[in-house]
Amino acid sequence: MQSQYRTIPAIHRLLELPSLIEAVERLGRPPVMEACRSAVDHLRRLIADGAIDETDVPSAVEALEQDILANLEHATRPAYREVVNATGVLIHTNLGRSPLPVDRASSLGSYLALEFDLTTGRRGQRLAPLRHRIAAICGAEAAVMVNNNAAALLLILSTHALGREVIVSRSQLIEIGGSFRLPDVMAASGCRLIEVGCTNRTHLADFENAIGENTAAILVVHQSNFRIVGFTTEPTTPDLADLVHRHGLPFIVDQGSGCLHDLRRWGLPAEPTVGELLADGADLVCFSGDKLLGGPQAGSIVGRREWVEPLGRHPLYRALRPDKTALTLMDQVLAAHHADRLEEIPLYAMMSASLDSLTRRARRMGGRLRKAGIPVRGCRLRSALGGGTTPEETMPSYGLAIGGGQTLHDLLRESGVPVIGRLEDDEVLLDLRSVQPSQDPILERSVTSAYRGLINRQDDGK
Ligand SMILES: *Cc1c(COP(=O)(O)O)cnc(C)c1O
Repeated sequence: MQSQYRTIPAIHRLLELPSLIEAVERLGRPPVMEACRSAVDHLRRLIADGAIDETDVPSAVEALEQDILANLEHATRPAYREVVNATGVLIHTNLGRSPLPVDRASSLGSYLALEFDLTTGRRGQRLAPLRHRIAAICGAEAAVMVNNNAAALLLILSTHALGREVIVSRSQLIEIGGSFRLPDVMAASGCRLIEVGCTNRTHLADFENAIGENTAAILVVHQSNFRIVGFTTEPTTPDLADLVHRHGLPFIVDQGSGCLHDLRRWGLPAEPTVGELLADGADLVCFSGDKLLGGPQAGSIVGRREWVEPLGRHPLYRALRPDKTALTLMDQVLAAHHADRLEEIPLYAMMSASLDSLTRRARRMGGRLRKAGIPVRGCRLRSALGGGTTPEETMPSYGLAIGGGQTLHDLLRESGVPVIGRLEDDEVLLDLRSVQPSQDPILERSVTSAYRGLINRQDDGK
């Protein structure tokens, strides 16, 4: 056995291979060393365990170079890899919610006037430049931005309801995936949750009866990811606003999705926009930046000055404020919303794609794949907005279906640029609405290589 180990080259010898000299130049010495060590260790273990025969050792040594290069490929990949989202779910929480218009974030590579007032030459306020834009879009007096909507709610409640009571309807005690549970967020903010009404019906009088000396606010939470249907009732926003204001309290709405436009433009049912909620009397409205806003992860709080301004002075704000990357991207996205140039926001470009254009893309790609011997067929599909918005609604879409079951589904996920589709019966469905057109060639390559992998496995199985 000792003699077998001796045939394994020393690391410094391996590093003399031209491919590895080149790799060191390109990737630096440490990752190449690690890749060598791990390939050599692996081979030693195989020999020690008797997993390879003595006669196979020379060819395994021969294959070391390829093993090292494969290790390197894995080790030097970006931590967060680009994938093709062919699931048809546009705001996909596991795939980074909305894709960002990154090519527009031009100031990120240079210094930028983040907290610097260019008129006076003095220190400026981080949020000042953006605050006006978001306030103008929603018709709000004031605005504050933090890291996400959970942080927004935490900041609102900590500032305005610490040690006091906040009234919420029992139909709105929601859990959003990823451990956002309303009662827990409220407890963490140091306020006391007062539940009123029933799961399906809550009346204005329920809120009215619950208001007491220790009440800090009424909170309405958008039922993001579910619907209660049938025998239901909730007080209207103006009625609730009236009631709250008679008691001199703030009316808080967690709007969730950040809907700024009438969704009927995209054939979806309307949901209250941030602007409408403010116009109907809400004092503080908070929402996510990376759902229907189509921007980076962020949480916005807009509303009446007397309730918004204290938020920026709370010590928690310093811990929750967004970084320059999010702020710069958010500026781009908000400008596009404001100008109604929605096609510049990838999410809206995908929402607006016509069934015709999706069908054309599928036909073109399908034709080429079939020529390459891959039996795909075009198919009508339904896409969803996702991200806990419009949970029951879907949009017509078009894509490709390929037989190949779980094996092909897995192979697609393992390809150079992973493709995430939907497995239905024994077919992988690839919905083109959630695939950005610029990714079509990548999708085609990944499908081709995954299908080849499938055929190879089937041949091996014979
Ligand atoms: C999504 C959502 C949240 C959480 O927002 P994040 O930005 O993910 O922190 C809170 N409330 C509602 C109603 C939501 O829809």
